[in-house]
Formats: sequence, structure tokens, C-alpha cells
Amino acid sequence: MLNEDQLSKLRTAGKVAGAARELGLSMVKEGVKLYDVAQEVEGYIREHGCGLAFPCNISINEVAAHYTPCCGDPKVFEIGDVVKVDCGAELDGYVGDTAGTVEVGTAAYRDLIEISKTARNTVAEFIGDGVTLSAIGKTVESVMRGAGFVPVSNLCGHQIEPYNLHAGLSVPSYDNESKETVKAGMVVAVEPFATNGAGEVRNGRPGNIVRFVRDRKIPDQKAAEFLDYVKGEFKTFPFCARSCDFPDAERHVKTLLRHGVLSGYAQLVEAKKGIVSQHEYTFYIDSHRGEVTTLP
Ligand code: MN
Ligand code: MN
Repeated sequence: MLNEDQLSKLRTAGKVAGAARELGLSMVKEGVKLYDVAQEVEGYIREHGCGLAFPCNISINEVAAHYTPCCGDPKVFEIGDVVKVDCGAELDGYVGDTAGTVEVGTAAYRDLIEISKTARNTVAEFIGDGVTLSAIGKTVESVMRGAGFVPVSNLCGHQIEPYNLHAGLSVPSYDNESKETVKAGMVVAVEPFATNGAGEVRNGRPGNIVRFVRDRKIPDQKAAEFLDYVKGEFKTFPFCARSCDFPDAERHVKTLLRHGVLSGYAQLVEAKKGIVSQHEYTFYIDSHRGEVTTLP
């Protein structure tokens, strides 16, 4: 179990992430730049005393996750876009990871958007010490199928440990028959993705998000200094050039990718180009139930 001090950090990071999520979702309008939303969301997190647990993901339509705007990204929201904003705050390694979905100017996908929220909120009603992964997955799937949609089966929720965003348990969106249980003291993100497509994502183009993988000798002195900055600023968490307060960050990221010091994440794209919605909360499992930490 977390002690009072640890729990307080987890709750602060969660609350900041929750408010940042709402701020980001409220800014999603026709003609607004993705870049501006990502910068505002991350600015909010930093101004409120937290670090970034990962870059603000802004993924549209069939892109389920892992797109963040690059430096100077000109892309804007268009009418009819189904937009996922997924953000994370960390305080001394304790993370709040949370996401929501909105549609730009239309209501064609209202039911699809609503169903991932309903699935998450239904899990919130019973998640707690001793609940099996199978029970969670089964619930998510039956909620979605009951409304005529399918879960994205190869995207999962996850346990979170200090400085480790994807640790231990994977939380399925279908009945994987696992009798493994969520346990008191765990931090768990539940993030069902719903779609009208195949129910599966595949790797697409790079989405501007990278992480540190291994140390290697870097002949380029400035790139080596940049790596030191990155380790101090983002620790073990994923990041992107846009979030770096360092000259020529984009160029240094490319250099470090080439040397195998950083590894890039691909955008995750629905296999049949189905539209994807996602809602995510982080939970702290206390001695019996799950507390949502990422309310604003
Ligand atoms: Mn997330
Ligand atoms: Mn997550």
C-alpha cells in the first residue's frame, strides 16, 4: 500500500492530469491547431508543479493513439474529426494517466464516443482488490458489443509503478480468461478503446513520441548534452522534441534515434480504418475498492 505522502503525490498528479485533460478537450474546435492544444495541456501540467509522464497524445479518427504534434506542426482539427486527448502528469514518479474523446462540430459518432466512457465507468463501479482481469475485460466487451461496437482488443489498460508507466498487469478489453487479480495498493489505468472497425490496431507512421532505451557513445557533443537534459527532464518517461526546452531538439532527437539511444513509437491505426474512441482513468486500489485519481 502507498503511505500518506505517496498517496498524496499520486492524487495531486491525478488531479492535475484530469484538469489538463478537460482543458485540452475544451480547446478542440474546427481550425484550432493540434500543436496549440498539446502545448496548453503540457503547459498546464508543468505550471501545476508536475512533470510530463508522456507527451500529450492527440489522435484523430482511425488513429487510436501515439500521435503527438511535432515542432511547428501545422495540422488543425476539421469538422467531423473524432479526437482523443490522452495526457499524463507525474509527481516524483507518481502518475496520473487519463484520456477523453470529443467530436468536432458534429454528432455522428456520439454513441461510439459514449460507449468507451460507459465501459470505463462500469468498470469503475466494481474494480477493487481481488477483481479478476477476466471480469474487467468481459464487462468492457459486453458493454461495447451490446451497443453494436467492438473493443480494440490489442490495446490494454495497465498497471503503473513509480517512474514506470506500463508496469506489471495488462488490463484487457475482452475476456482473456485470466484469473489474475487487481490487488490492494496497485495503481491501474483502465482505458477501453471502442471502434466500428475490426477491433484491432496496427503500427502506422511514426507519431513523434520517443523514449530512451540505451546509453551509447555519442560523437555529437550537443546531442550528448541534449541526452543529459532529456534524462533530467523526463527521467524514464516517453517524450517528444516539442516538449523540450533545448535548442535544436528536433535535430538531436533524430541523431539519437539514428544511434539507437532513443526508440520511436509508431502511431496505432485501426486495422480497417474504423473510427476509435477512448476514455481513461487512473485508479488507486485501496484495501477494497478503486479510487479514481484523475478527476479534475
Ligand atoms: Mn493514457
Ligand atoms: Mn494509459
